[in-house]
Amino acid sequence: PRILGIEGTAWAASAAVYDSETDSTFIESDAYEPDSGGIHPREAAEHMHTAIPQVVEAALSHARELQAEADESTGDDPAGIAADPPIDAVAFSRGPGLGPCLRIVATAARALAGTLDVPLVGVNHMVAHLEIGRHTADFEDPVCLNASGANAHLLAYRNGRYRVLGETMDTGVGNAIDKFTRHVGWSHPGGPKVEAAAADGEYVDLPYVVKGMDFSFSGIMSAAKAAVDDGTPVEDVCAGLQETIFAMLTEVAERALSLTGRDELVLGGGVGQNERLRAMLRKMCEARGATFHAPEPRFLRDNAGMIAVLGAKMYAAGETIAVEESAVDPDFRPDQVDVVWRGNETV
Ligand code: ATP
Repeated sequence: PRILGIEGTAWAASAAVYDSETDSTFIESDAYEPDSGGIHPREAAEHMHTAIPQVVEAALSHARELQAEADESTGDDPAGIAADPPIDAVAFSRGPGLGPCLRIVATAARALAGTLDVPLVGVNHMVAHLEIGRHTADFEDPVCLNASGANAHLLAYRNGRYRVLGETMDTGVGNAIDKFTRHVGWSHPGGPKVEAAAADGEYVDLPYVVKGMDFSFSGIMSAAKAAVDDGTPVEDVCAGLQETIFAMLTEVAERALSLTGRDELVLGGGVGQNERLRAMLRKMCEARGATFHAPEPRFLRDNAGMIAVLGAKMYAAGETIAVEESAVDPDFRPDQVDVVWRGNETV
């Protein structure tokens, strides 16, 4: 199928077209950048309001071009009046995310599906973060580490669902880093700035908090802020922060691989763009004979490509929803989703 995906859970107003025949993904995104501080829900929603129509229009024109090319090569539609809609369905992020943003995206998705007379597919954003890794790696049955802004989960499939093996007990990993960078006066998003500063820093000790396969960031963040306030060079604190947080994520990922007996690890989420995190996970996987995969950065940070790709799998498995059932869910957990598409891996 050819699916138009729309994403807008927090900062990225994004639309994409995934065409399963060619396995190609077109993504158009417009990022909300706060003037100061972190992501403000009302301002983020205003951004969605202005940016979603433009990114959707760009994706739709791309879909129309694909349809015109397909018509030309099959000799259909010689008059150039496309009888078929350029897409088979509209997929959108139903949650988790910021309610005011989700509602705008859902409204746009319903309107577009209604106008083109195609079905709607409601996608869980966290499951999309992991499925794009499985899709781009062609992995059978990986353990998935979702390291994103507002979340941090270890997931693995069993009996029809992605089970949460471990997760953060407080904030998401990216949000934790962003809180630290706000404290030191750096603009949002903080992750890339911590990565750059850490390259010039010397490791400092910070609290390391892992409980089984769960983990926590709040104590580390308080200690990191206090260290900077006490005069430790910020580069050193950044180096300590990266080493500590990423070692925790690597430890829990290894425990999950060991306890499930799986030998594939896939990384998802915006923090997955960090080279140091990827290097640590890769090394751990190599040491135990497992295969590691991190998708390219455009699929790691929030993007509609992952929504369109999972939307195509769900559509092929018959997972469409009626408008009346398409309410958003800001707290939508990955283990609430029936993973019916794993019985149908043809897309
Ligand atoms: P979620 O997907 O949980 O809703 P989100 O919407 O905030 O989260 P993502 O795009 O997955 O978005 O991740 C954004 C986060 O990634 C931000 O917190 C940002 O600081 C962090 N980040 C981006 N690049 C890097 C990097 N190089 N190193 C560490 N963190 C990074």
